[in-house]
This record gives sequence, C-alpha cells and structure tokens, in this order.
Amino acid sequence: MADVLKVIQLGNPDLRRRAQWVERSQDKCIQQLIDRLIATAQAANGVGIAAPQVAEPDRLFIVASRPNQRYPYAPAMEPTAMINPQILAHSDECVKGWEGCLSVPGIRGLVPRYREIEVKYTDRWGDLKHHLLSDFVARIFQHEYDHLDGLVFLDRIESTQDLMTEQEYQAREGIESLERSNQSTVISS
Ligand SMILES: [Zn+2]
Repeated sequence: MADVLKVIQLGNPDLRRRAQWVERSQDKCIQQLIDRLIATAQAANGVGIAAPQVAEPDRLFIVASRPNQRYPYAPAMEPTAMINPQILAHSDECVKGWEGCLSVPGIRGLVPRYREIEVKYTDRWGDLKHHLLSDFVARIFQHEYDHLDGLVFLDRIESTQDLMTEQEYQAREGIESLERSNQSTVISS
C-alpha cells in the first residue's frame, strides 16, 4: 500500500492555485503520486481526490467512486487516474446534488453540476481516453476538475442555505435518503 498523504484544507493558498499541465505522465514521480492519491482517497472514504489537495500542482486527479460511509449510494468502479483532463461538451441539463470535500471537512453543499459531460484525459499508462460520463461520476469529475483550477464546491453553491454540517447530513441521510432523491432533481434544462 502506498503512503497516505496529508490533505491540505480550505485556507491553504496551495488549494487556490491553478495546476500545471503534466508533460510526462510516465515519470516515476507522477506514477508514485497516483498511487499515493489512490491510497489517500481510500483511507479518507473519498470518492475522488485531486493533486492540488496534497499540494502537488499537477493537472491530475483520481475518480474512485464506491459506496462507503460518506457516500452510501455511490456506484462502484476501479480507482481511475485522469491526467490532463478536459471537458469537451456538456448537457444543457444541470442537477443539484450534495457534495463534500476532503479539503472542506465537516460541510456538505448542494451543488449544481451538468448531468452529462463528454471528457478526454490521459490514463496512467499514457493512453488517451474519451468518455461520456453521467450523474454521480460526472459530478465527481466536475468537482475534481474544479480543484485543478483552484476552485472548491463552495464557489459553486447558489446560496448559503444550501450548506449543511456533515453531522446533520448523515442524520438526514438515514431518514430521507436525501442523496438519492436529490440526484434526480432537475434545476435547469
Ligand atoms: Zn474536493
């Protein structure tokens, strides 16, 4: 198991910097960073993590959706490194869903995201990938992509009324399955 890295938190200026294009995805330091980001996301029950969150200014992130304590309804997939990701197109339709962030502990926000996005990225083996992503995985991609431009989910919420503490969120989750119902809430089209 690779080393777990320290996740920097809101207020640290490194979280607000624009990350740089990765020129050599096969370099040992990039491959090691990928292994460590995967280990760090798993240790923290994260469904994604971006390099700027561990103060590495590289345009790469991990999408690692799986059901866990923080996201019980997340679809399961292998942790996937996405290097130099780009959003090529998106649906008109946006949906609001609850997000949290390892760099913003204790807070959830109801964040509007495109329901569907067309993306390309380089995988960890250097191959160019082209995918259509939807719903929760598209949400993770957009959240992590924002980190590469120095943005966090708090920058995307429409109102401070759309914020909740993690404790309150977890309490409501059990009662109302809030995340599931909100995943299908259409807010614009
Ligand atoms: Zn985040």
